[in-house]
Amino acid sequence: MKIAIAGAGVTGCFLGHMLNKKSHEVEIFEAAKKDDHWAVCAWGASKHMLSKFSQDAGLNFDDYILHEGKNLRMDLPKNKTENLILKGLVTYNKQKWENDLLKGLTIKYDYKCDGSFPVNNYDYVLDCTGLHRTLLPRSKEDFIIPAYEYLVENINEEYNEFYVIGYKGARGYFWYFPLDKGRGFVGAGDIDRKYFGINEFLSKNPNAKIIKKIGRPIRLSPPKRMEPFYVGNIIGVGESIGCVFPMLGEGIIPSLICCEIFLKVLDDNPRLFNFSDYRKKVLKRFGYYDDVYKIVRLKMDGKLSTLKHGKLLMNMYKSMKEEEKRFGFEVSLTKMRKLVNAL
Ligand SMILES: Cc1cc2nc3c(=O)[nH]c(=O)nc-3n(C[C@H](O)[C@H](O)[C@H](O)COP(=O)(O)OP(=O)(O)OC[C@H]3O[C@@H](n4cnc5c(N)ncnc54)[C@H](O)[C@@H]3O)c2cc1C
Repeated sequence: MKIAIAGAGVTGCFLGHMLNKKSHEVEIFEAAKKDDHWAVCAWGASKHMLSKFSQDAGLNFDDYILHEGKNLRMDLPKNKTENLILKGLVTYNKQKWENDLLKGLTIKYDYKCDGSFPVNNYDYVLDCTGLHRTLLPRSKEDFIIPAYEYLVENINEEYNEFYVIGYKGARGYFWYFPLDKGRGFVGAGDIDRKYFGINEFLSKNPNAKIIKKIGRPIRLSPPKRMEPFYVGNIIGVGESIGCVFPMLGEGIIPSLICCEIFLKVLDDNPRLFNFSDYRKKVLKRFGYYDDVYKIVRLKMDGKLSTLKHGKLLMNMYKSMKEEEKRFGFEVSLTKMRKLVNAL
C-alpha cells in the first residue's frame, strides 16, 4: 500500500519503519526543519516495553538507555514525601532511537501538512501529528495541559534519580528526569502555568547550564474523547487520538501500543483497512484511561471523593496493577491512597 505519514515523532517514526519493513511504500512529512527536529519529551519510559518495540524494529534497546532508575522521590503538599520503587523506568536517547528508525526511509522535513495535503495520492494517510491532530477534525472534549522543560547539564551529583513534585489538587507536576553525564530534563506540566519547582531546582544547581528550552502542551483527553479516529482515508495514530496516560501525561508507550493495534488491523487486510475494527480495538485497549481521566479532572476541580468515587479509583488501581511492567514502577494500593489523599 502507498502510505503517507504526517509527523515524525515516536508514532510516525515507528510506524514508518515497521510499514517499510512490511514492504509498504511509505512517505513521511515532518513540519520541523531537519536540524531543528527534536524529540520533545522527558525521554522516560519502561524499558520492558521499549525493549520489545525495539526488538520488533530490529534495534537493541540497551544501546539507547541513558539512566536506569531505582527510586522515584515524590514531594507532596504539606511537606510530605513518598518514594516509589522503580521496576524498569529508564530515560533513553529518544532522539537517536527515532533517527535510527528513520534510516533509509523517505522523509520530507519542513513540510507542514494541512487541509491541502494530497490525500488522494495515497491509499492511507496517517495523522501522527500528536498534539496538533492536523488532518483530523477537532474534538470538543479535547483537554490539554501547558508544559515546558529544559535540557540541562552540570547538575549536582546528588540529583542522580527521578524526582517529581506533585501539585495540590493534581493540577500538574514538576519533574527531574536524569539522563547521563550530569544531564537531565527539568520541567513541569501545570494547568495554572506556575511551573513550581523549575526555578527552585535551578537555584539548588547554580552550575547547571540550560542547553535547550523545549515546550508544548500535553494532551490528557483519552481516546474515548478524541473521536473521530478516521475520516476518509486519514487515520489517527498515537497522541493525535489521545493515546496518553492522563495521570502522568506519559505518551511514548501508549502511542506505540496504538501503532501495534494499527499494524495488526492493517496486516489483517491491507487492501481494505477495517476502520471500525481499529476504532473498537483502540477504545477497548485504552478503555480504562477514561476512568483515569475522570479521576484527574475530578481532582483538579476539587470534587474527588474517595467514598463516592471509590469504584472508579479501584478500577484504576486494578488496571494499572495488571500493567505494572508497562509503567516501570511499583503500583501499590497503599501508596496510591496516600497520593490521592495528599494531593
Ligand atoms: C514536555 C513534555 C515531556 C514529556 N515527557 C514524556 C516522558 O518522559 N515520557 C512519556 O512517555 N511521554 C512524555 N511526554 C508525552 C510524549 O512525548 C508524547 O505523548 C509522545 O511523544 C506522542 O508521540 P506522537 O508521535 O504521537 O506525537 P509527537 O511526538 O508530538 O510527534 C508529532 C510530530 O508531528 C510533527 N507535526 C506536527 N504538526 C505537523 C504538521 N502539520 N505536518 C507535519 N508534521 C507535523 C511534529 O513536529 C512532531 O515531530 C512528554 C510531553 C511533553 C510535551
